[in-house]
Amino acid sequence: MEKLQNFINGFFCDPVEGKYIDNWEPATGTVYSQIPNSGPKDVENAVAAAHEAFPMWSSMGAQKRGEIMRRISEGIERRREEFAMAESRDNGKPLQLARAVDIPRAVSNFHFFATAVEHFAAESHHMEGTGINYTLRKPIGIVGCISPWNLPLYLFSWKIAPALATGNCVVAKPSEVTPYTAYLLGEVIKESGMPPGVLNILHGEGGTAGDAIVKHPQIKAISFTGGTNTGEYIARTAAPMFKKLSLELGGKNPNIIFADCDFDDMLSTTLRSSFANQGQICLCGSRIFVERPIYEKFREAFVKRVDETVVSYPDDPHAKMGALVSKAHLEKVCSYIELAKEEGGTVLSGGVRVEMPEPYQNGYYLRPTVIEGLRYDCRTNQEEIFGPVVTITPFDTEEEVLIMANSTPYGLSATLWTSDLKRAHRMAEKIESGIVWINAWLVRDLRTPFGGMKASGVGREGGWEALRFFTEPKNVFVKY
Ligand code: NAD
Repeated sequence: MEKLQNFINGFFCDPVEGKYIDNWEPATGTVYSQIPNSGPKDVENAVAAAHEAFPMWSSMGAQKRGEIMRRISEGIERRREEFAMAESRDNGKPLQLARAVDIPRAVSNFHFFATAVEHFAAESHHMEGTGINYTLRKPIGIVGCISPWNLPLYLFSWKIAPALATGNCVVAKPSEVTPYTAYLLGEVIKESGMPPGVLNILHGEGGTAGDAIVKHPQIKAISFTGGTNTGEYIARTAAPMFKKLSLELGGKNPNIIFADCDFDDMLSTTLRSSFANQGQICLCGSRIFVERPIYEKFREAFVKRVDETVVSYPDDPHAKMGALVSKAHLEKVCSYIELAKEEGGTVLSGGVRVEMPEPYQNGYYLRPTVIEGLRYDCRTNQEEIFGPVVTITPFDTEEEVLIMANSTPYGLSATLWTSDLKRAHRMAEKIESGIVWINAWLVRDLRTPFGGMKASGVGREGGWEALRFFTEPKNVFVKY
């Protein structure tokens, strides 16, 4: 069976303590490779390599760093089919989705930040007659990047790219649930001419490898994307060491549909915003609120489309949905469907596992699930499920739907469907979330601030926000 390796100081290597964990293929429910379960000694080696590389990488200049990063982008692009197949196999997502979204976005992340850093500028503040302040923005040093399993290479590169572009050296850990494309990235890095030690990729569980990264005293900043509980633990652990933190956490996003919306556009986008990537996108709109005059019409049309959605093995070209990422996650999602029933909900579509032919009969397939009849403040409507489960709830007024939309501890994203421009702006201002889409979903401009408020996170990624996060500002005053 294939054994993956860590990528430290420009070389692939085994974990110091020789410990490995199984890597599962969600489509078949079988183990297909093993990955290092790295620990503090591996992190120590990665930090030593990063420390050695930092003076040269940080003083190389943005343009030269950008050239190397563009080669990484091109390297992924050249092998895009191999990357897409690896991502789909590791995660269970439809191959089409990995081809259309995950891998192109990883290519763009490196390219975007390679060029962005050349346009990045620091501030200056003139004091008339007195002097001038200017802000120096220096790389932080060695930073840790920890990412989740839902958009594996997409989110991994979203952190690594701005960290590298600004001159930092990186110790990065992908999710142990989906390590494969990060492993392949090591090969691309090797070929790109990036100096050894600048980017080190460690594999392993959160509680061992991740924890060792968070606790290492020479790692000065942590950029983390994952669950809110993990984020809370990381914040608690890193705070006494005064580490800079960027936390992108869970969501429970509202999708608010007014009667005056473009119904057809709303319907097909809502299908995607509910179930794309098996509903395992932090931005999925899992709470659908529909204005009462179109509630019945929406329910009928939506349930029909959901019933028709093809759930199949990831490389079936007809698959709109693939397998959930793991057995444990499937069980968690199913437990929420049971909870919803106990809380008085009615399952209108789905709610059952999918019978698949060999060799997929043990894969983690679940029908997309629509539930109605729940109170907005019940657990099903308050806790993050992170799977193909949505609830639908009618509403009568803007005030009422705002109370329901803002009622969860989360505040990541929201979607609004209306053709009333004034209402759209009014609602966008009042919704408690870091991102609002009006008559759209998941349209991304990499320059915009990305992240959540409340329990959905601290800080923002994207564009200048990311470049600012990965640099330390120093004000210098010069007297006239
Ligand atoms: P998770 O928190 O279990 O794991 C995320 C990463 O953190 C993994 O690499 C894991 O190994 C590591 N980790 C776990 N425990 C750790 C510890 N004690 N110390 C250091 N690292 C540790 O999350 P997940 O299940 O992989 O991902 C799903 C979650 O991610 C969902 O809550 C989802 O909403 C969230 N998410 C958020 C965004 C966003 O941008 N806000 C994007 C994608 C996913």
